[in-house]
Amino acid sequence: MASPTTPEGRSVRAEAKEMGRFKEKKKLVFMCFLVDQRRTTRSSKPAAGICSRCGACARVADMRTTTRFCYVPVYRKTWRAIICTFCGALLKSYNR
Ligand SMILES: [Zn+2]
Repeated sequence: MASPTTPEGRSVRAEAKEMGRFKEKKKLVFMCFLVDQRRTTRSSKPAAGICSRCGACARVADMRTTTRFCYVPVYRKTWRAIICTFCGALLKSYNR
């Protein structure tokens, strides 16, 4: 017995070349937080020591770092540091 065959004369070329440019959409994220941190020197007195950078006199200063969030102080830290009077370099800091 001879079963009838149906020959398929299709030559399928699979060209899967994707030349499309892959675009990445980068979302710009704006940080809307209004965080402000300022360092103020409360009081300073001369200390025995010179600056390692410029050689000027060093001072012991009571520093205060105030972190503000939307102009409301949320964190306050008082610390002591030895700073230079001439170049303002922070020579040493004592964290209490
Ligand atoms: Zn200095």
